[in-house]
Amino acid sequence: MRITMIGSGYVGLVSGACFADFGHDVVCVDLDDKKIAALGRGEIPIFEPGLDRLVADNVAAGRLRFTTQLAPAVADAQVVFIAVGTPSRRGDGHADLSYVHAAAADIARALSGFTVVVTKSTVPVGTGDEVERIIAETNPDADVAVVSNPEFLREGAAIEDFKRPDRIVIGLEDERARELMTEVYRPLYLNQAPLLFTGRRTAELIKYAGNAFLAMKITFINEIADLCEKTGANVQEVARGIGLDKRIGSKFLNAGPGYGGSCFPKDTLALVKTGQDHESPLRLIEATVAVNDQRKRAMGRRVIAALGGSVRGKTIGVLGLTFKPNTDDMREAPSIAIIQALQDAGARIKAYDPEGMGMARTLIEGIDYASDAYDAAAGAHCLVLITEWNQFRSLDMKRLKATMAAPNFVDLRNVYRRRELEAAGFAYHSIGRSGDG
Ligand code: NAD
Repeated sequence: MRITMIGSGYVGLVSGACFADFGHDVVCVDLDDKKIAALGRGEIPIFEPGLDRLVADNVAAGRLRFTTQLAPAVADAQVVFIAVGTPSRRGDGHADLSYVHAAAADIARALSGFTVVVTKSTVPVGTGDEVERIIAETNPDADVAVVSNPEFLREGAAIEDFKRPDRIVIGLEDERARELMTEVYRPLYLNQAPLLFTGRRTAELIKYAGNAFLAMKITFINEIADLCEKTGANVQEVARGIGLDKRIGSKFLNAGPGYGGSCFPKDTLALVKTGQDHESPLRLIEATVAVNDQRKRAMGRRVIAALGGSVRGKTIGVLGLTFKPNTDDMREAPSIAIIQALQDAGARIKAYDPEGMGMARTLIEGIDYASDAYDAAAGAHCLVLITEWNQFRSLDMKRLKATMAAPNFVDLRNVYRRRELEAAGFAYHSIGRSGDG
């Protein structure tokens, strides 16, 4: 199959490289000429485990190319994917569809022969109809089937997720697309990943409903964690106790500082707006958004409380900045709100993250960056573990304590045990675990 991917970010690049690895002939397009030039030199503009090798192998095999020239890449393709960003629209929280609409118009002008145009970006229900309308208006002669194929990969495990998905959702209204989409995903279909064919609007809504449910599950266990602290229970044991019930499941029940990242915050907000627009309010998701928003800054207050109520003039060492481990993505990371709350209260921040410090420099001001966890601890009155990178899981506590100004440890991911940390001389604070946790 000849596939063109419009947008070469986290989703476009991973999807494009994986499709090439399946044996398809793939061109990845992006407006950002710096990104395309870097890819042309064999440099990967994002951190995603295994992606450098996958891209290099498929470029060498002649199945994967990069370009800023959309028109020839679209004219040649049988299937064109739209994988551009759909951030929150400034001011109102609706999904900003300007990149999708612009891509649809660019594609329309370049089409030649019957082409399947697939929206892989996360877009509100009804966007496929709009893409179809834009294409028909821009190029009345275009012969297209517009499909929705939302992406469920997770950053940090994106290649594995793409190659071994729980399901592939394909929403279509034009039956001509069914055969081509089946062909695109044939290698996965043979691996037993179920292809779920639905109507286009249903597919669009599946993506938002899935993300909103996961965000709600995280928020649920975070509120239970708060109750555990007040009542002397242990949230990790509660999570295990409920997670073993197959109707609930054990995943996404880790209490922490609140969800972040490039998807959950914007997608929950956009779904709330869609519900309001259709006079079908989603109150559970509205509550999820509000609870999570408050939680991030509350984590900053928790650190302040751990230091006796004031951090003015004190140094806080921060371990982990990205919204989760194994990515360099800082978008909507809880660390941003936590650090701002601490800075507002007069603290100096010294932070270390294995991959996130580059993006953090563009998002948060006034941080001193450390060269590793031990450097972040040196001179600090408190260490706050925000992102559970593997390298923070077995730190040498004696070595940390020796260089700190005061031995306080706030573990927002419940990585450590109270007993161990107290034995090493730390005052230890975690999430939802009173007593022995
Ligand atoms: P991203 O910002 O990393 O990448 C988007 C890319 O599209 C950018 O490189 C941008 O330059 C390019 N672009 C924008 N307009 C263009 C145009 N007209 N022509 C060519 N290139 C254009 O975004 P992302 O994280 O890859 O997300 C893309 C979509 O996938 C979003 O809708 C997101 O919600 C969804 N999604 C993301 C993830 C994730 O984990 N990142 C997972 C599932 C779904």
